[in-house]
Amino acid sequence: MISSLQDNSTNRRSQRKRFAKRVLLRSGIPGLLSRVAPASVAILRYHSVQESLGATTDIIGRGIVHCASVFAEHMESLAKRFNPVSLDDVSSFFYEGKDLPRRAVAITFDDGFRDNYDVAAPILERLGLQATFYIAVGCVEEDKLPWFCRLRRAFLTTQVPNWTDPIDGRPWKISDLTSRIEARQNVMRACARRSGDSLEELLRTIERGLDLPKLEPNDRLMMNWDEIRSLRRRGHIIGSHTMSHPNVAHIGPDDVLRELQESKRLLEQRLGETIVHFSYPVPTLQPHWTEDTVLATAQVGYRTAVTCASGSAGRGNRALSLPRVVAAMNKTDFVWNIELALMGGSPQSSEL
Ligand SMILES: [Zn+2]
Repeated sequence: MISSLQDNSTNRRSQRKRFAKRVLLRSGIPGLLSRVAPASVAILRYHSVQESLGATTDIIGRGIVHCASVFAEHMESLAKRFNPVSLDDVSSFFYEGKDLPRRAVAITFDDGFRDNYDVAAPILERLGLQATFYIAVGCVEEDKLPWFCRLRRAFLTTQVPNWTDPIDGRPWKISDLTSRIEARQNVMRACARRSGDSLEELLRTIERGLDLPKLEPNDRLMMNWDEIRSLRRRGHIIGSHTMSHPNVAHIGPDDVLRELQESKRLLEQRLGETIVHFSYPVPTLQPHWTEDTVLATAQVGYRTAVTCASGSAGRGNRALSLPRVVAAMNKTDFVWNIELALMGGSPQSSEL
Protein backbone atom coordinates (compact mmCIF):
# COMPACT_ATOMS: atom_id res chain seq x y z
CA MET A 1 0.00 0.00 0.00
CA ILE A 2 2.77 2.40 1.03
CA SER A 3 4.77 1.46 -2.04
CA SER A 4 1.75 2.02 -4.31
CA LEU A 5 1.24 5.50 -2.77
CA GLN A 6 4.93 6.24 -3.34
CA ASP A 7 4.64 5.02 -6.96
CA ASN A 8 1.64 7.32 -7.53
CA SER A 9 3.47 10.27 -6.04
CA THR A 10 6.59 9.55 -8.17
CA ASN A 11 4.41 9.26 -11.28
CA ARG A 12 2.69 12.57 -10.54
CA ARG A 13 6.07 14.23 -10.01
CA SER A 14 7.47 12.96 -13.33
CA GLN A 15 4.26 13.97 -15.13
CA ARG A 16 4.59 17.50 -13.74
CA LYS A 17 8.27 17.63 -14.75
CA ARG A 18 7.45 16.40 -18.26
CA PHE A 19 4.69 19.02 -18.57
CA ALA A 20 7.16 21.78 -17.55
CA LYS A 21 9.69 20.48 -20.10
CA ARG A 22 7.03 20.50 -22.84
CA VAL A 23 6.10 24.12 -22.01
CA LEU A 24 9.75 25.18 -22.10
CA LEU A 25 10.42 23.32 -25.35
CA ARG A 26 7.37 24.92 -26.99
CA SER A 27 8.60 28.36 -25.86
CA GLY A 28 11.62 27.90 -28.18
CA ILE A 29 13.99 29.19 -25.46
CA PRO A 30 16.22 26.05 -25.33
CA GLY A 31 16.56 26.14 -29.13
CA LEU A 32 17.62 29.82 -29.03
CA LEU A 33 20.12 29.18 -26.23
CA SER A 34 21.68 26.22 -28.05
CA ARG A 35 22.21 28.44 -31.10
CA VAL A 36 24.33 30.90 -29.13
CA ALA A 37 26.13 28.29 -26.96
CA PRO A 38 29.68 27.24 -28.03
CA ALA A 39 29.69 24.66 -30.87
CA SER A 40 29.14 21.12 -29.61
CA VAL A 41 27.53 17.83 -30.56
CA ALA A 42 25.08 15.69 -28.61
CA ILE A 43 26.18 12.08 -29.18
CA LEU A 44 23.14 9.88 -28.54
CA ARG A 45 23.61 6.49 -26.89
CA TYR A 46 21.34 3.58 -27.83
CA HIS A 47 21.68 -0.20 -27.38
CA SER A 48 18.71 -2.20 -28.64
CA VAL A 49 15.57 -1.37 -30.66
CA GLN A 50 12.88 -4.07 -30.77
CA GLU A 51 9.64 -4.34 -32.78
CA SER A 52 7.83 -5.37 -29.61
CA LEU A 53 9.07 -5.91 -26.10
CA GLY A 54 9.24 -9.57 -25.01
CA ALA A 55 11.45 -12.30 -23.55
CA THR A 56 14.64 -11.03 -25.19
CA THR A 57 13.98 -7.57 -23.72
CA ASP A 58 14.57 -8.98 -20.24
CA ILE A 59 17.75 -10.71 -21.36
CA ILE A 60 19.19 -7.49 -22.82
CA GLY A 61 17.77 -5.33 -20.00
CA ARG A 62 14.58 -3.24 -20.13
CA GLY A 63 16.45 -0.01 -19.32
CA ILE A 64 18.41 -0.15 -22.58
CA VAL A 65 15.76 -1.43 -25.01
CA HIS A 66 13.68 1.01 -27.08
CA CYS A 67 10.48 0.01 -28.82
CA ALA A 68 10.66 0.51 -32.62
CA SER A 69 7.73 2.97 -32.64
CA VAL A 70 9.42 5.11 -29.97
CA PHE A 71 12.76 4.97 -31.79
CA ALA A 72 11.07 6.03 -35.06
CA GLU A 73 9.47 8.98 -33.23
CA HIS A 74 12.90 9.93 -31.81
CA MET A 75 14.53 9.84 -35.24
CA GLU A 76 11.73 11.82 -36.91
CA SER A 77 12.06 14.44 -34.23
CA LEU A 78 15.86 14.47 -34.61
CA ALA A 79 15.64 14.90 -38.40
CA LYS A 80 13.17 17.79 -37.98
CA ARG A 81 14.68 19.73 -35.06
CA PHE A 82 18.45 19.06 -35.12
CA ASN A 83 21.37 18.65 -37.52
CA PRO A 84 22.54 15.01 -37.78
CA VAL A 85 26.31 14.50 -38.05
CA SER A 86 28.53 11.39 -38.08
CA LEU A 87 31.37 10.31 -35.78
CA ASP A 88 33.73 11.05 -38.70
CA ASP A 89 32.43 14.66 -38.62
CA VAL A 90 33.09 14.68 -34.86
CA SER A 91 36.64 13.43 -35.49
CA SER A 92 37.22 16.19 -38.09
CA PHE A 93 35.90 18.76 -35.60
CA PHE A 94 38.55 17.74 -33.05
CA TYR A 95 41.53 16.93 -35.29
CA GLU A 96 41.11 19.16 -38.34
CA GLY A 97 39.41 22.15 -36.75
CA LYS A 98 36.36 21.72 -39.02
CA ASP A 99 33.10 23.30 -37.90
CA LEU A 100 30.05 21.39 -36.78
CA PRO A 101 26.60 22.74 -37.64
CA ARG A 102 24.70 24.32 -34.76
CA ARG A 103 22.48 21.83 -32.91
CA ALA A 104 24.59 18.88 -34.10
CA VAL A 105 23.50 15.38 -33.03
CA ALA A 106 25.25 12.04 -33.70
CA ILE A 107 23.60 8.63 -33.23
CA THR A 108 25.49 5.69 -31.67
CA PHE A 109 24.63 2.12 -30.67
CA ASP A 110 26.65 0.02 -28.21
CA ASP A 111 27.16 -3.77 -28.18
CA GLY A 112 26.10 -4.91 -31.70
CA PHE A 113 22.65 -6.40 -31.10
CA ARG A 114 21.01 -8.03 -34.11
CA ASP A 115 17.97 -5.75 -33.84
CA ASN A 116 20.26 -2.81 -34.75
CA TYR A 117 20.41 -4.36 -38.23
CA ASP A 118 16.86 -5.76 -38.41
CA VAL A 119 14.89 -2.91 -36.82
CA ALA A 120 16.93 0.28 -36.21
CA ALA A 121 18.85 0.54 -39.51
CA PRO A 122 15.72 0.52 -41.77
CA ILE A 123 14.19 3.34 -39.67
CA LEU A 124 17.44 5.35 -39.83
CA GLU A 125 17.72 4.84 -43.58
CA ARG A 126 14.09 5.80 -44.27
CA LEU A 127 14.97 9.20 -42.78
CA GLY A 128 18.41 9.44 -44.41
CA LEU A 129 20.22 9.16 -41.05
CA GLN A 130 23.60 7.57 -40.40
CA ALA A 131 24.69 5.95 -37.11
CA THR A 132 27.83 4.48 -35.54
CA PHE A 133 27.60 0.90 -34.29
CA TYR A 134 30.15 -0.11 -31.63
CA ILE A 135 30.65 -3.86 -31.67
CA ALA A 136 31.52 -6.18 -28.76
CA VAL A 137 33.74 -8.05 -31.19
CA GLY A 138 34.26 -11.32 -29.29
CA CYS A 139 30.46 -11.77 -29.07
CA VAL A 140 30.10 -11.49 -32.86
CA GLU A 141 33.15 -13.58 -33.64
CA GLU A 142 32.03 -16.42 -31.37
CA ASP A 143 28.28 -15.87 -31.74
CA LYS A 144 27.58 -15.46 -28.05
CA LEU A 145 25.75 -13.00 -25.84
CA PRO A 146 27.64 -10.26 -23.97
CA TRP A 147 28.32 -11.47 -20.44
CA PHE A 148 25.76 -9.20 -18.75
CA CYS A 149 23.05 -10.70 -21.01
CA ARG A 150 24.27 -14.23 -20.22
CA LEU A 151 23.93 -13.50 -16.52
CA ARG A 152 20.46 -12.00 -16.99
CA ARG A 153 19.35 -15.01 -18.99
CA ALA A 154 20.93 -17.43 -16.50
CA PHE A 155 19.22 -15.99 -13.44
CA LEU A 156 15.90 -15.47 -15.26
CA THR A 157 15.54 -18.97 -16.67
CA THR A 158 17.23 -21.25 -14.14
CA GLN A 159 14.99 -23.75 -12.34
CA VAL A 160 17.40 -24.56 -9.51
CA PRO A 161 16.24 -23.38 -6.06
CA ASN A 162 19.70 -23.08 -4.50
CA TRP A 163 23.01 -21.84 -5.88
CA THR A 164 26.50 -21.30 -4.48
CA ASP A 165 28.39 -18.24 -5.69
CA PRO A 166 31.69 -19.61 -7.08
CA ILE A 167 33.54 -16.38 -6.16
CA ASP A 168 32.93 -16.19 -2.43
CA GLY A 169 31.27 -19.57 -1.74
CA ARG A 170 28.12 -17.84 -0.47
CA PRO A 171 25.01 -20.05 -0.61
CA TRP A 172 21.92 -18.41 -2.15
CA LYS A 173 18.26 -19.45 -2.13
CA ILE A 174 17.10 -18.32 -5.57
CA SER A 175 13.53 -19.57 -5.70
CA ASP A 176 12.10 -16.02 -6.03
CA LEU A 177 12.88 -13.20 -8.44
CA THR A 178 14.16 -10.74 -5.79
CA SER A 179 16.83 -13.12 -4.50
CA ARG A 180 17.81 -14.07 -8.07
CA ILE A 181 18.36 -10.41 -8.93
CA GLU A 182 20.39 -9.91 -5.74
CA ALA A 183 22.55 -12.97 -6.47
CA ARG A 184 23.07 -11.77 -10.05
CA GLN A 185 24.07 -8.26 -8.96
CA ASN A 186 26.62 -9.78 -6.59
CA VAL A 187 28.28 -11.87 -9.27
CA MET A 188 28.10 -9.06 -11.86
CA ARG A 189 30.60 -7.04 -9.88
CA ALA A 190 33.09 -9.92 -10.09
CA CYS A 191 32.48 -10.43 -13.83
CA ALA A 192 32.99 -6.71 -14.57
CA ARG A 193 36.56 -7.00 -13.26
CA ARG A 194 37.47 -9.83 -15.63
CA SER A 195 38.06 -10.15 -19.34
CA GLY A 196 38.88 -12.75 -21.97
CA ASP A 197 39.39 -16.39 -20.88
CA SER A 198 39.13 -15.64 -17.17
CA LEU A 199 35.69 -14.05 -17.69
CA GLU A 200 34.54 -16.90 -19.95
CA GLU A 201 35.64 -19.51 -17.41
CA LEU A 202 33.70 -17.78 -14.62
CA LEU A 203 30.58 -17.47 -16.79
CA ARG A 204 30.67 -21.15 -17.69
CA THR A 205 31.00 -22.10 -14.02
CA ILE A 206 28.00 -19.91 -13.16
CA GLU A 207 25.92 -21.30 -16.05
CA ARG A 208 26.78 -24.89 -15.08
CA GLY A 209 25.81 -24.19 -11.46
CA LEU A 210 22.45 -22.84 -12.63
CA ASP A 211 21.82 -25.83 -14.93
CA LEU A 212 20.67 -23.76 -17.90
CA PRO A 213 18.77 -24.93 -20.96
CA LYS A 214 20.74 -24.59 -24.20
CA LEU A 215 20.13 -21.53 -26.40
CA GLU A 216 18.09 -22.38 -29.50
CA PRO A 217 19.70 -21.53 -32.88
CA ASN A 218 17.03 -18.88 -33.58
CA ASP A 219 17.94 -17.11 -30.32
CA ARG A 220 20.83 -15.25 -32.00
CA LEU A 221 20.72 -11.78 -30.47
CA MET A 222 23.98 -10.39 -31.88
CA MET A 223 24.68 -9.26 -35.45
CA ASN A 224 26.87 -11.47 -37.63
CA TRP A 225 29.73 -10.23 -39.82
CA ASP A 226 27.62 -10.15 -43.00
CA GLU A 227 25.13 -7.86 -41.28
CA ILE A 228 27.88 -5.60 -39.93
CA ARG A 229 29.52 -5.39 -43.38
CA SER A 230 26.12 -4.56 -44.88
CA LEU A 231 25.64 -1.67 -42.42
CA ARG A 232 29.06 -0.34 -43.41
CA ARG A 233 28.28 -0.61 -47.13
CA ARG A 234 25.09 1.36 -46.52
CA GLY A 235 27.09 4.29 -45.07
CA HIS A 236 27.02 3.63 -41.34
CA ILE A 237 30.19 3.65 -39.24
CA ILE A 238 31.53 0.64 -37.34
CA GLY A 239 33.58 1.04 -34.16
CA SER A 240 34.98 -1.15 -31.39
CA HIS A 241 33.36 -1.85 -28.02
CA THR A 242 36.24 -4.17 -26.90
CA MET A 243 36.40 -7.95 -27.29
CA SER A 244 34.70 -9.24 -24.13
CA HIS A 245 32.97 -6.08 -22.79
CA PRO A 246 34.90 -5.65 -19.52
CA ASN A 247 35.08 -2.45 -17.51
CA VAL A 248 38.54 -1.43 -18.77
CA ALA A 249 39.14 0.80 -15.74
CA HIS A 250 39.05 -2.33 -13.55
CA ILE A 251 41.28 -4.79 -15.42
CA GLY A 252 45.08 -4.96 -15.72
CA PRO A 253 46.98 -2.77 -18.25
CA ASP A 254 47.94 -5.77 -20.42
CA ASP A 255 44.31 -6.86 -20.58
CA VAL A 256 43.24 -3.29 -21.49
CA LEU A 257 45.68 -3.25 -24.41
CA ARG A 258 44.59 -6.69 -25.56
CA GLU A 259 40.90 -5.71 -25.49
CA LEU A 260 41.58 -2.48 -27.43
CA GLN A 261 44.04 -3.96 -29.92
CA GLU A 262 42.44 -7.30 -30.66
CA SER A 263 38.97 -5.85 -31.24
CA LYS A 264 40.42 -3.22 -33.61
CA ARG A 265 42.51 -5.80 -35.47
CA LEU A 266 39.63 -8.23 -35.92
CA LEU A 267 37.19 -5.53 -37.06
CA GLU A 268 39.78 -4.31 -39.57
CA GLN A 269 40.33 -7.85 -40.85
CA ARG A 270 36.60 -8.56 -41.20
CA LEU A 271 35.72 -5.18 -42.72
CA GLY A 272 38.87 -4.42 -44.70
CA GLU A 273 39.26 -0.87 -43.42
CA THR A 274 40.93 1.04 -40.57
CA ILE A 275 38.83 1.28 -37.41
CA VAL A 276 39.25 4.54 -35.50
CA HIS A 277 36.19 4.85 -33.26
CA PHE A 278 35.86 3.25 -29.82
CA SER A 279 33.17 3.09 -27.13
CA TYR A 280 33.89 2.32 -23.45
CA PRO A 281 31.71 -0.46 -21.96
CA VAL A 282 30.22 0.33 -18.55
CA PRO A 283 29.34 -2.89 -16.82
CA THR A 284 28.24 -2.14 -13.28
CA LEU A 285 31.30 -0.37 -11.86
CA GLN A 286 32.53 3.23 -11.98
CA PRO A 287 34.78 4.71 -13.17
CA HIS A 288 34.65 3.14 -16.62
CA TRP A 289 37.67 4.97 -18.08
CA THR A 290 40.83 6.56 -16.66
CA GLU A 291 43.75 8.67 -17.85
CA ASP A 292 45.66 5.40 -18.44
CA THR A 293 42.90 3.99 -20.67
CA VAL A 294 42.81 7.26 -22.63
CA LEU A 295 46.55 6.87 -23.27
CA ALA A 296 45.97 3.25 -24.27
CA THR A 297 43.29 4.18 -26.84
CA ALA A 298 45.71 6.73 -28.35
CA GLN A 299 48.56 4.20 -28.38
CA VAL A 300 46.41 1.63 -30.18
CA GLY A 301 45.35 4.17 -32.83
CA TYR A 302 41.77 5.18 -32.04
CA ARG A 303 40.81 8.73 -33.01
CA THR A 304 37.63 9.05 -30.94
CA ALA A 305 36.37 7.28 -27.84
CA VAL A 306 32.92 7.80 -26.36
CA THR A 307 32.06 7.27 -22.70
CA CYS A 308 28.83 7.17 -20.73
CA ALA A 309 29.57 10.46 -19.00
CA SER A 310 26.66 12.78 -19.67
CA GLY A 311 26.68 15.95 -21.78
CA SER A 312 27.50 17.31 -25.22
CA ALA A 313 31.00 17.19 -26.71
CA GLY A 314 32.66 20.52 -27.55
CA ARG A 315 36.06 22.18 -27.76
CA GLY A 316 36.50 21.71 -23.99
CA ASN A 317 36.44 17.93 -24.38
CA ARG A 318 39.09 15.51 -25.55
CA ALA A 319 38.36 13.31 -28.57
CA LEU A 320 39.32 10.18 -26.61
CA SER A 321 36.87 10.66 -23.74
CA LEU A 322 33.71 12.16 -25.22
CA PRO A 323 30.51 12.37 -23.17
CA ARG A 324 27.20 11.19 -24.62
CA VAL A 325 23.49 11.75 -24.10
CA VAL A 326 21.39 8.83 -22.95
CA ALA A 327 18.42 8.28 -25.28
CA ALA A 328 15.36 8.74 -23.06
CA MET A 329 12.37 6.43 -23.37
CA ASN A 330 9.81 9.08 -24.36
CA LYS A 331 9.84 11.92 -26.89
CA THR A 332 9.64 14.85 -24.46
CA ASP A 333 12.59 13.65 -22.35
CA PHE A 334 14.45 12.66 -25.52
CA VAL A 335 14.25 16.19 -26.99
CA TRP A 336 14.80 17.77 -23.60
CA ASN A 337 17.99 15.76 -22.93
CA ILE A 338 19.46 16.86 -26.26
CA GLU A 339 18.47 20.51 -25.79
CA LEU A 340 19.88 20.49 -22.25
CA ALA A 341 23.16 18.93 -23.41
CA LEU A 342 23.51 21.43 -26.27
CA MET A 343 22.97 24.28 -23.80
CA GLY A 344 25.88 22.90 -21.75
CA GLY A 345 23.82 20.89 -19.23
CA SER A 346 24.21 17.29 -18.13
CA PRO A 347 21.14 15.05 -18.63
CA GLN A 348 20.82 12.05 -16.31
CA SER A 349 22.89 9.07 -17.37
CA SER A 350 22.60 5.32 -16.79
CA GLU A 351 23.99 1.75 -17.03
CA LEU A 352 25.57 -0.44 -19.76
ZN1 LIG B 1 28.06 -2.16 -23.88
